[in-house]
Amino acid sequence: MIEFNKPPFIGTELEYIRQAAEENNKLCGDGPFTKKCSAWMQDNFNVKHAILTTSCTHALEMAAYLSEIQPGDEVIMPSYTFVSTADAFVLRGAKIVYVDIRPDTMNIDETKIEDAITEKTKAIVPVHYAGVACEMDTIMDIAKRHNLKVVEDAAQGVSAYYKGKALGTIGDFGCYSFHETKNYTMGEGGALLFQDENYLEKAEILREKGTNRSKFFRGQIDKYTWIDYGSSYLPSDMNAAYLLAELEEHEKIDRKRMAIYNYYHEQLRPLAEAGKIEQPVVPEGCVHNAHMYFIKARNLEVRTKLIKYMKERGVMCVFHYVPLHTSPAGQKFGVFHGEDKYTTKESERLMRLPMFYDLSEQDMAYVVECLMDFKEW
Ligand SMILES: *Cc1c(COP(=O)(O)O)cnc(C)c1O
Repeated sequence: MIEFNKPPFIGTELEYIRQAAEENNKLCGDGPFTKKCSAWMQDNFNVKHAILTTSCTHALEMAAYLSEIQPGDEVIMPSYTFVSTADAFVLRGAKIVYVDIRPDTMNIDETKIEDAITEKTKAIVPVHYAGVACEMDTIMDIAKRHNLKVVEDAAQGVSAYYKGKALGTIGDFGCYSFHETKNYTMGEGGALLFQDENYLEKAEILREKGTNRSKFFRGQIDKYTWIDYGSSYLPSDMNAAYLLAELEEHEKIDRKRMAIYNYYHEQLRPLAEAGKIEQPVVPEGCVHNAHMYFIKARNLEVRTKLIKYMKERGVMCVFHYVPLHTSPAGQKFGVFHGEDKYTTKESERLMRLPMFYDLSEQDMAYVVECLMDFKEW
């Protein structure tokens, strides 16, 4: 059977975890490996601050708090996204305003955002689906004119770029995921990125249980105390050790994922040319990271048959997301602004193919062969 996903394993992870456990005597958060991961992201993605967190969900929660979202504030985002994008803002009492997506990239339709803005709107949350950037110039311009915060959900966008800038470094905040389903992993984990120095102190306090312990560890104060609202958003240094091993070898992972993406893209082109499927689109100015490979079938009925057929042939293919505005919580906490022209329709057609670091050439070829044999397009 060909799995849909396997977490990447490069080989150096275990040595780093051994160092964390045997040599450093530091298993809790903000040890040497955590610091190295932060420094690595800051250098490689050209961002002032990159703080390791326990998940992208938690990075989003931190961003919602630091954006000073209050009960009743409105936050604009696509409905076609993972629940955490909305949850983080709902926890602060926000009302979610969904706008439609573009059918080409499955990203928020930047031309529909401005019409959804009211005097209660506080933030826009673009989600870089499949590591393909949203139209950030337009989004940043809208945000600037209406004095809104931009929180990038770049969970899938680590090592992807928009006009030369790393995703997650363009808005006020960027949120990464290092969950085992993402390109680089630490099991569960994420990062919060921002350029503005003014957020740093509040972010550190929020992450360290509401205390100024980060300052204490740097020797800037001689005792630490509770000074504000807080939680615990710092991962163990053992998890960071695993991640650092992967970040340092990221080119190996990138090369492999890109090879899989390009293979699928080339091999499946005849199906697209025959009008049986649609393939992913990467707009000018976007450098994607081969986070996923999806195809779109004609409609829900064909996709359902296709997933069943692939499973029968031993290939696990999955779909996502059920649009948030059609879910019980999504309806309770939000409202769709404008027409749902593409969100539901396009989400029902989309199917993801197996895509992971360890996928063999033989298995890739078998996936394509199965798709070529499918008769019920
Ligand atoms: C994976 C993902 C998340 C959540 O990431 P976690 O690290 O599991 O919290 C959020 N948003 C999007 C778009 C994702 O793909």
